[in-house]
Amino acid sequence: MPESRPVLCRTCMERLGIPDADEGPCEICEKVRAGLHLADTINPDFEYESFNVGIVMPPGPQEREGELVSAYHLRGARSFKTEMNRELRERLEERLGKRADVVDPDVVFEIHIPKGRVFYHLKSLTLSGSYNKYDRTIPQTKWHCKACRGRGCPRCNNTGKMYPTSVEEIVGEPLLAATKGRETRFHGAGREDIDVRMLGDGRPFVIEILSPKVRTLDYAALEAAINEDERIAIHGLAPCEKSLVEALKMGAFRKTYNAILDKTLTIEEIKRIEEELVGEIDQRTPIRVSHRRSDLIRKRKVYKVIGKNSKTTELEIYCDGGLYIKELISGDEGRTQPSVSQILNMQVQCKQLDVLAIHKDTDN
Ligand SMILES: [Zn+2]
Ligand SMILES: [Zn+2]
Repeated sequence: MPESRPVLCRTCMERLGIPDADEGPCEICEKVRAGLHLADTINPDFEYESFNVGIVMPPGPQEREGELVSAYHLRGARSFKTEMNRELRERLEERLGKRADVVDPDVVFEIHIPKGRVFYHLKSLTLSGSYNKYDRTIPQTKWHCKACRGRGCPRCNNTGKMYPTSVEEIVGEPLLAATKGRETRFHGAGREDIDVRMLGDGRPFVIEILSPKVRTLDYAALEAAINEDERIAIHGLAPCEKSLVEALKMGAFRKTYNAILDKTLTIEEIKRIEEELVGEIDQRTPIRVSHRRSDLIRKRKVYKVIGKNSKTTELEIYCDGGLYIKELISGDEGRTQPSVSQILNMQVQCKQLDVLAIHKDTDN
């Protein structure tokens, strides 16, 4: 038995099954009920189909309920928080004319009683598609200026960015305008260097739009608007599950590249490359990325190389994802073995690189 007889409302008394409580201003739910009028202020100015509610409690009531539950050995009683959430959901369903969904709602109304206000948490909108990049000056995602880390400084002309734009921004800006969202997060199935074009069927991506106020979109029109910028092209823009982000990050897709060399090789040299470059490559983290990638030796395979001469020599290389192609050619001072330079015993550089294909069906 507790030290003093509890004072409870009739609802809490019956819910918990405490027969000898005094009826009066409830020690458990009184303070919370006083805050529930906040729910009447919920008045969304955004599009949503479903909602859930959460209550941030003032200190006290839950602890008091816990004490009573243990003092009276009340196993299995529904907590008042659960009860109130249910009550609120029903009240709001009726008033707002929307469906309550506790699993995956478009918005969660957080009724913050201590702060005396309601916070709206809108579910992100997640879209997938593929992009091509036809320009050798834009990165995939926004890069913060190294000097100011995004705050803005003279070096970056107060933009906070290293580059004027990116695939992320070209794709994201029309989407932000259409959804009135707050910001975007861009996830690619890998990324190409800034000076590398992404050709063929493109690279799969997912873009998340945070806090979208509009969810019904005309995807064909948005794609067309994005594709007005001729530096890139996207296709297949459609809603997707957020779990696709993980799948994109985990997938090690094989790639086909076209590399233009800085030298013209003889037919015999091309033949040697086509034969000797195929197989396992030991690649130590390239010098140029060693400041942001841990130093280790990766083993990746080259499956096929086809060389041809036009102005200089071009190599079409079919290989595992995660292989650095510029270093596969230069050798990176012996850090990539074998390499084109090593096989021919002369320094060869990759002058220009394109991704021709990302092979989704050979995930390994
Ligand atoms: Zn009560
Ligand atoms: Zn800066």
